[in-house]
Amino acid sequence: MTAQTFLPSDPAGVIASYTRVNLVGGAHVATQTGIAVLNPATGAELGQAAASGADETNAAIGAAKAAGAGWAATPARARGKMVAAAGRAIAAEAETIARVLALETGKAIRTECRGELTVAADLLEFYGGLASELKGETVPFNPRILTMTTREPLGVVAAILPWNVPLVLMMLKIAPALVAGNTVVVKASEEAPFATFAAAEILMKHLPDGVLNVINGTGAACGSVLTAHKDVAKVTFTGSEAVGQMVYEAGAKNIIPVSLELGGKSPMIICADADLKKTVTGAVNGMRFTRQGQSCTAASRIYVHDTVFDDFMSALQDTLNKLVIGDPMDEGTDIGTIISAKQAKVIRDYVTLAEQTEGAEVLRCSALPSDASLSPDLFMQPTLLLNLPEDHPCVQNEIFGPVAVIQRWSDYDDVIEKANATHYGLAATIWTTSLSTALDATSRLNSGYVQVNQNLTIQPNVSYGGFGRSGLGKEASLEAMLEHFTRKKTIVLNFD
Ligand code: NAD
Repeated sequence: MTAQTFLPSDPAGVIASYTRVNLVGGAHVATQTGIAVLNPATGAELGQAAASGADETNAAIGAAKAAGAGWAATPARARGKMVAAAGRAIAAEAETIARVLALETGKAIRTECRGELTVAADLLEFYGGLASELKGETVPFNPRILTMTTREPLGVVAAILPWNVPLVLMMLKIAPALVAGNTVVVKASEEAPFATFAAAEILMKHLPDGVLNVINGTGAACGSVLTAHKDVAKVTFTGSEAVGQMVYEAGAKNIIPVSLELGGKSPMIICADADLKKTVTGAVNGMRFTRQGQSCTAASRIYVHDTVFDDFMSALQDTLNKLVIGDPMDEGTDIGTIISAKQAKVIRDYVTLAEQTEGAEVLRCSALPSDASLSPDLFMQPTLLLNLPEDHPCVQNEIFGPVAVIQRWSDYDDVIEKANATHYGLAATIWTTSLSTALDATSRLNSGYVQVNQNLTIQPNVSYGGFGRSGLGKEASLEAMLEHFTRKKTIVLNFD
């Protein structure tokens, strides 16, 4: 028996159903104007997503507010069951949504998009199962006076998404927010909104009307209205540092909590005793080359011990040369495209800067596709930058493209200092067979997520979030739900 499905089975049908549409109060609400969404692999317009302004944004907040009391009063486990059931329903339609995601982001269907759907659905099941963990505490204040804390929902949560991994990042925000009893307004990324709408509508169908609302629009016309609104009780944002600052300022004006997941320039330190094969796989995966490096956690500064540098470089280039760059929809493709011409220019400008730097070496791996139907400007080869000074913009700034800086090291204290010498602090890895080196490094690396001999992406039950200018607050895990989507009330009962 085949499971009942909700979405049209072809990606074009899905995109058509979200043309100039917001999902508000359980219904499709048409907008007057639209924002063109392009297929980065071909340059063709895929469709027009909603262009929301203040009226549309206010309406979504109004719908979320109206649904708030009923949702907060719904028993936690009942909320969790609805969210978990939605996870299974999304998994049943994962292929269709993955295809929409590949079309709008340019990420390869096989290496990136299917996996993103698996994690997104899993996050709903994970948080759905945590509903009864929304516990408070009893406090030993006085044996005759019951003193306790409870966890309450915050109210309307605004969740603002970037384009690079929109479904996983959406679920990291809305699954804990919903299970904790909040209602939500999601602002999709205007560059890749359609898969977000498709997955969110399946979730919406499992919830009372108005509990989850999804709108699309630009940051200026829609996002800024959302963050400034007096009825929003919490903003959770993933995106760039510059926009994160604006979001934080808007939250400060209303004195509401704000979670920020921002950029990174994560170091990967390879020691002389590390397993070479593992480090090469770790560098390719950690740098997210199959996602064109468009990852906040990308291991974009790779420090390789002098004694293994040449072996590492040759094995890394061999591996990268075998990756196929091509049409994201093609099953044979490992690496798709950059998201947009604007982003591609930013990346190319960094590479040009490196090329103009005396003594620097720029190595390009693999081959660009020759298919004439593809838009050549948005495909980019994995690029390795060598011999750059540590204060070079390519070493210090997040490039958000398939560009890794590779540096030699020989002095351990010096490499730890260099690893910590950017203003970011999202993630770091060290590769060694020495337990004492690993323990020393994990205590000294100034990052929110430190791994030894592996470079895994976000896991549902492992708390994740950056130090420094990489952000504020944690996502994933029970901690994220309790700390960031509830408020703690202290109750003292005295019948003495
Ligand atoms: P962006 O900051 O340009 O946009 C993110 C979102 O913010 C979009 O939905 C955009 O419309 C909205 N926005 C823009 N201006 C706004 C405003 N004034 N008020 C409210 N919302 C506004 O980021 P992007 O280009 O979509 O994504 C790439 C960035 O995201 C990178 O810097 C990357 O490091 C970061 N990122 C971080 C993480 C993490 O977990 N730390 C994960 C993925 C991406």
